[in-house]
Amino acid sequence: MRIFSDPSVAGYGAPGHPEAPFRVARSAQRLKAAGHKLELPDIPASDPDLLRVHLESHLQSVRQGSFADPDTAAHPGIDKSARVSAAGAMSAMRSGLAGVPAFSLMRPPGHHAGAARVAGFCYYNNMAVAVTAALDGGKVKRAVILDIDVHHGDGTESIMLGREGVRVCSLHQVPLYPGTGQESRDNCRNVPLAPFTGEDDYLRKLEPALEDLLAFKPDLLAVSAGFDTYKDDPLAQLKLDKKTYRRLGRLCADTGLPRFALLEGGYSEDLPLLIEEFLEGFAS
Ligand SMILES: [Zn+2]
Repeated sequence: MRIFSDPSVAGYGAPGHPEAPFRVARSAQRLKAAGHKLELPDIPASDPDLLRVHLESHLQSVRQGSFADPDTAAHPGIDKSARVSAAGAMSAMRSGLAGVPAFSLMRPPGHHAGAARVAGFCYYNNMAVAVTAALDGGKVKRAVILDIDVHHGDGTESIMLGREGVRVCSLHQVPLYPGTGQESRDNCRNVPLAPFTGEDDYLRKLEPALEDLLAFKPDLLAVSAGFDTYKDDPLAQLKLDKKTYRRLGRLCADTGLPRFALLEGGYSEDLPLLIEEFLEGFAS
């Protein structure tokens, strides 16, 4: 198991915003105390890395802070943090492909970011950047993305829709931000979940969805790991328990596939513990 993180991504934030520096800083502390070694990613994501999925105009807009989204502020230095976060995703992907499961403990998250837009605390779509790099690298013919964040991975869907060699499955609460993902489209399967869904019902929906992804015979399993499905998360109303995350990690590990996971959402004070539980299962 390898974990990629960089303390510099805790360097931006706004008072009262749920996507706060503690998410990475305190999780890193906890994982280190538990004996995990945290590694820096290779190098910040370059323009060619990001241009695999984003438009040039989008890169410019993030660099200049000239975008407008009420949830997704133009923090000073956000371009650098977003590139480091994307680099963590690519490093985790490379480790996974080399046979060592990996996790990218970074922020900002990415799954709401589209080819030409920031959204929902996301600037660059880390997952799409990493998976597209894997496919373009030629070692991977078929990749699957499992998005277990409580919000629909609308950015990932919009980028990956119709793309050969990719299947996407997102499980998410409906109704909830961003309001999409009620129906499946082409290579993107959506599994809407009612508010207050607990572990048993969640797993009952997840297992067939995962089987469906495996039937595609992927060479790579990529997990958008959000922890805002937790019962005490302030942004949503699902009811997963601490121990559920170890089971989710284990289900991914049981596929036996080369795999990596990225931190997406998760805003409760217990986030560090939830991540640790997930990784216990994911690495096994
Ligand atoms: Zn989320």
